[in-house]
Amino acid sequence: MTIKRAAGLLLIISVSAFIKKSESSEDLAAYCAAFNQIQLDIRDGAISPDSARKAFSEVMVNIRKAVKPDTCRGIDSAYFVYPVKGYSPRESIGSRGRGYRPNGFDLFDREVAGSHPAHDLFVRDKDQDNLDDRTWKPIDILSFTSGIVLATETGWKYDSELRGGNWVWIYDPCLDGLFYYAHNNIVEVQPGQSVKAGDKIAEMGRSGYNAYKQRSPTHVHLMYLQLDSMGMPEPYNTYEWMLQSTVKSDPEMD
Ligand SMILES: [Zn+2]
Repeated sequence: MTIKRAAGLLLIISVSAFIKKSESSEDLAAYCAAFNQIQLDIRDGAISPDSARKAFSEVMVNIRKAVKPDTCRGIDSAYFVYPVKGYSPRESIGSRGRGYRPNGFDLFDREVAGSHPAHDLFVRDKDQDNLDDRTWKPIDILSFTSGIVLATETGWKYDSELRGGNWVWIYDPCLDGLFYYAHNNIVEVQPGQSVKAGDKIAEMGRSGYNAYKQRSPTHVHLMYLQLDSMGMPEPYNTYEWMLQSTVKSDPEMD
């Protein structure tokens, strides 16, 4: 068995062990719904930042218990698949990684502005039709690591003022952190679903209040939040992870 094949096998083992069998898959569905509701309540100003913090901590501690992995592979370059299919990190990460500005970020307070605890990953789409200018096909968004989809937004409309557009939240139980992919055109996963690194989760789009504007080049906004012992999120810079990630090229362009 080659090393590559062995690594693939390990990954499959770790993914199948994510969700404990029996009653906990029902529990997980309820935790996913609660996670989603907290995001909506923050967005709508229906919950105070302090209440949101408390609710988030509770639900993340539960999710962590329900999705405990039996096996985690080592964090090496095979752990990560670059999220934009057909593109390399160096050609698509915005501002050579300097777009990451975590200071002042507060997931629980929608009034706080100015931070960007994320990277924007760009593609060739001069005419802004969500299609790759080289292939005239949609651009697949791939899951950066393996994990469980916690929540998705799929109903964004062009006249909506919501900023994230159609987004996906994925929990990686091995890293114990959350990935958020925003501005998708079409989301192709559902809450509770397990995904492996490199699985297609969405097609890139321009959804979101600012992302839809002509001044914004087509991109995916990728944020990673590392959880602390209480399940509280802290931004973490994924730039090095992206640089070392495995690149999936589009066969059309080989
Ligand atoms: Zn962004």
